[in-house]
Amino acid sequence: MRLIFLGPPGAGKGTQAQIIVERFGTPQLSTGDMLRAAVKAGTELGQQAKAIMDRGDLVSDEIVVGIVAERIDQPDCEKGFILDGFPRTVAQAKALDELLARRGLQIDHVLQLEVENDILAARIAQRNAENGGGRGDDNVETLKKRLTVYHEQTAPLLPYYRARGLVRQIDGMAPIADVTKQIMTVLNEDAHVA
Ligand code: AMP
Repeated sequence: MRLIFLGPPGAGKGTQAQIIVERFGTPQLSTGDMLRAAVKAGTELGQQAKAIMDRGDLVSDEIVVGIVAERIDQPDCEKGFILDGFPRTVAQAKALDELLARRGLQIDHVLQLEVENDILAARIAQRNAENGGGRGDDNVETLKKRLTVYHEQTAPLLPYYRARGLVRQIDGMAPIADVTKQIMTVLNEDAHVA
């Protein structure tokens, strides 16, 4: 099972990906988490990425594609993986297609988590309060920037994947358990076919 979670910042991609991970044991590949780990570890990559992340911009395609290429070859990804926060540009999606094609693999579903902008702002404010401002990019100004970046650079992935019939729309404004239920419905349809 290879899934992509697609949606604006604060849509619940990470939360839902973690729930799916617990149920299926499929690893969650979050480029945001990997980049934050690099920042924390103080690696050269982390030092380069920090300022870009703090202002809500995207790290270069080359860097994130490199990270993902390395990660999907790990043994725990053999049975599948859940991509959370990647791809975020059409160039990344094309690079992912190539990476997968070379390995004879494909994406099963692109789960689009739909949430309205004002709800996103409220969620980010809450996450910020809970973390004590732990994430450098979780504040209202940066959120605005991240939303703009999402609409300009990431939303074009929807028609890209829609053209291949991969996009499944999920109402991300429902309570967490209901969102999970919608996702499970999509995944169970596969189980019936199989
Ligand atoms: P996230 O935790 O997915 O919201 O990612 C946090 C930040 O990491 C983003 O705002 C970007 O600066 C960077 N980042 C994460 N994933 C990507 C990606 N696929 N492409 C470019 N930048 C990314």
